[in-house]
Amino acid sequence: MSRFLSSKYKDLTPYVPGEQPKDRRYIKLNTNENPFPPSPRAQALAAEAAAGLQLYSDPECTLLVEKAAQYYGIDRDEIIFTNGSDEMLNFAFMTFCDDNRPAVFPDITYGFYSVFAELNHIPYTTIPLRDDFSVGVEDYLGLNKTIFLANPNAPTGLALPMEKIEAILQSNPNNIVVIDEAYADFNGESAVPLIHKYENLLVIQTFSKSRSMAGARLGLGIGCKALIRDLNVIKYSTNPYNVNSMTMAAGIGSLEDTKYFKTTLDTILRNREWTADALKALGFSMTDSRTNFLFVTHPKLDGGKLYQHLKDRGILVRFFNTPRLKDYNRITIGSKDEMQVLVSTIKEILEEST
Ligand code: PMP
Repeated sequence: MSRFLSSKYKDLTPYVPGEQPKDRRYIKLNTNENPFPPSPRAQALAAEAAAGLQLYSDPECTLLVEKAAQYYGIDRDEIIFTNGSDEMLNFAFMTFCDDNRPAVFPDITYGFYSVFAELNHIPYTTIPLRDDFSVGVEDYLGLNKTIFLANPNAPTGLALPMEKIEAILQSNPNNIVVIDEAYADFNGESAVPLIHKYENLLVIQTFSKSRSMAGARLGLGIGCKALIRDLNVIKYSTNPYNVNSMTMAAGIGSLEDTKYFKTTLDTILRNREWTADALKALGFSMTDSRTNFLFVTHPKLDGGKLYQHLKDRGILVRFFNTPRLKDYNRITIGSKDEMQVLVSTIKEILEEST
């Protein structure tokens, strides 16, 4: 650290993104990316937009907002777009938390929540997940805090049903409940329709996973108009041009190409079931993942060992070196070919180590 670093940030520990090593070609199953490229329509519109990059992007994302409002069945002023959903999450911490409304989230969840809380000097607490890694809904009733829940959760893959989300919303009427739906398309259930019933609900989604656009950085928040107005105050006070023109165009193309979206989503769900069955046959157990990854454990191989053996053989998966997660690995669902290589490689590793 330089001697010039603001004292505000001297204790900040940044988020560590999943590794992206370049020493060889890897099958990348460690950051929950989509194995398929973005829709051809998204690619074509982004390429067209490249010809206009001398101009600033539209800060209101007018055309994208129009398309998305239609897609989600909401009004145009009930949605805001951001540079990935990470930016949206940061805006949510900045906008809806303070000393009187501290943040709360599960102890095992998306690692960025605590970083955003610390970055913004927001007090926060965590609530332990149950032994089976589920969120104990009773723990979130009447908290008087701003609640952040990834649904489905990462890295556990488990989802709460909408009745439970509603119970949390109802029992915290004076606080915002943020539902991070990065993986919701793989679950087939969303809290978006509830925004018309609960003024304290903010739903966050991303184009990074189910829409194959992680590199484009496109996220969004959906909530009642007053919440979106508040979030826009923060957006226009930080970076009004937060979504670039190519990304905006790609987002429109993705929303228009419903057929491609559905086909790629269905393929990943089929690959998830195939991989789950194949790994169970090799002795793994796993949570009931409602996402594009599996959270798996094997009685004879701890998470660190499996991670390292796979990496040595050119496959990257995620390992979290913490007491409750060290026996597990989080494995992104890739193409069928990638999953076949994964399963046969794990089979070899098991044969060699047992
Ligand atoms: N929320 C969750 C639960 C995630 O796993 C991720 C991806 N790592 C994000 C949000 C952020 O995704 P992005 O910024 O690419 O939209």
